[in-house]
Amino acid sequence: MKILALSDEVVEHIYSPRVKELFGDVNVVVGCGDLPDYYLEFVVSMLNVPLFHVPGNHDLSPSAADRMGAGEGALPRDCGNLDGRVVREQGLLLAGLGGSVRYRPDGMNQYTQTEMGWRVLRMAPRLWLNRMRHGRALDVLITHAPPKGIHDGTDPAHVGFVAFNRFVAHFRPRFLLHGHSHVWRRDAVTATQVGATTVLNVCPYRVIEIGVPHAG
Ligand SMILES: [Zn+2]
Repeated sequence: MKILALSDEVVEHIYSPRVKELFGDVNVVVGCGDLPDYYLEFVVSMLNVPLFHVPGNHDLSPSAADRMGAGEGALPRDCGNLDGRVVREQGLLLAGLGGSVRYRPDGMNQYTQTEMGWRVLRMAPRLWLNRMRHGRALDVLITHAPPKGIHDGTDPAHVGFVAFNRFVAHFRPRFLLHGHSHVWRRDAVTATQVGATTVLNVCPYRVIEIGVPHAG
């Protein structure tokens, strides 16, 4: 199974009719945040596959929220929004935690380290249930911000979440896909193995191949 993960930047050759010949074998599209609705909508309608996405810290400003549902090209409010949710798609167990660390008191989709800890805890019962039912908590965690100390920055807006390090240690997804950390340097590290989990910075896009377990 192939996942096309997008984040933070509109990529010219993806926002083009060529997307079909380049990524026609993709089974699901994942948005890791800070992307315009029209871009996500274009890609999934061209590829005709499901979309799952989480918001970034630049999504859903009040003006964007006003546009949603009313404006042109706006995604319906609940269309594939995976924020705080756990879903099963084509046999794959997915969970999503959007937003970034809080760096402005009035910023939307921003959380303190403690608040993100609570968001993970709220999700935990569904992951434990998955573990009982399917023998694993989840396959892929989709976030906007990275874990603390992995592909993150030192400035107040780009520090990663400690709760994600704990999530990975406890629930052991095969992948954690995140955005938020723009890749400026060619030699920047964008893939890090943490125990059972491959943490991938998908900015601005990445194709991930993942085997779907047969059982359950
Ligand atoms: Zn961001």
